[in-house]
Amino acid sequence: MATATFPLTDNHIHIDELNGYGLDAVKKFKRAGGNTIFLVNKLTKDMGSSGVTLENFHRLYEKTLALGERIEELGIKVFTVLGVHPAEFHFMLEEIGRVEALQIAKDAVDLACGFIEDNKAVALGELGRPHYEVSKDVIDACHELLFYAFKKAGEIDCAVQLHTESIGESGFYEFSELAEKAGLSSNRVVKHFSPPFIEVASKTGIMPSLISKRVNILEALKEGKRFLMESDYIDDRRRSGAVVGPKSVPRVTLNLLREGFISEEDVYIIHKENIEEVYGIDIEF
Ligand SMILES: [Zn+2]
Repeated sequence: MATATFPLTDNHIHIDELNGYGLDAVKKFKRAGGNTIFLVNKLTKDMGSSGVTLENFHRLYEKTLALGERIEELGIKVFTVLGVHPAEFHFMLEEIGRVEALQIAKDAVDLACGFIEDNKAVALGELGRPHYEVSKDVIDACHELLFYAFKKAGEIDCAVQLHTESIGESGFYEFSELAEKAGLSSNRVVKHFSPPFIEVASKTGIMPSLISKRVNILEALKEGKRFLMESDYIDDRRRSGAVVGPKSVPRVTLNLLREGFISEEDVYIIHKENIEEVYGIDIEF
């Protein structure tokens, strides 16, 4: 079985003790050889709360950070990512209207920034716009929030994990420009659930994070190694099979290594160096 001789990093994973498998999912990741995760908070409703208030975001962040600590006790390095999921923000817009929703969401971004400044979390996210079709008004409000988050991230120099609909080349330019306009280097933007457009992403400065599916990674490798890998595992028993499982990042990586599609050096580039570069952190390996 795989040993932890390589950095193996899942750049975007959700763990949900209430609706999912919780620590058991992390144990699967570990057994497959994984050792580092970027734990992203879910939605406030996933912890059973109704109504979108700043207080609920506070609880959500605290719970996510506490969960991260328990995951670390399993011997996994955890970097926590906090923010207002676009689906959550969309729900807020419907519930309480643009003005109030924006106010609470911006305050929630500030709250996340506080945890990052205290070194409890490492990045903002996932933020952006819904992956499903929404009205122009919703998009506009999402952009206002995202611009605000980029601005705050620029001020404290942290990365932002971006959630969007599936984008093409132009999308990379759009978000890179928006970040730079807000005062955040596009080198601090991570496109979560990215298409394997490694060259374009590189040109725009954005770091693509790819779903850990063999064909997807093989496609990316044709253009280079400047990318991250993620499962986007949502840990929800009701939606199992919606994404790849918690083992996928270490499993796909180690299989590709074994078969000679990537070298040991490549593993370090993808799972350590690229991570360190975009987040401005150190992974001890
Ligand atoms: Zn996610």
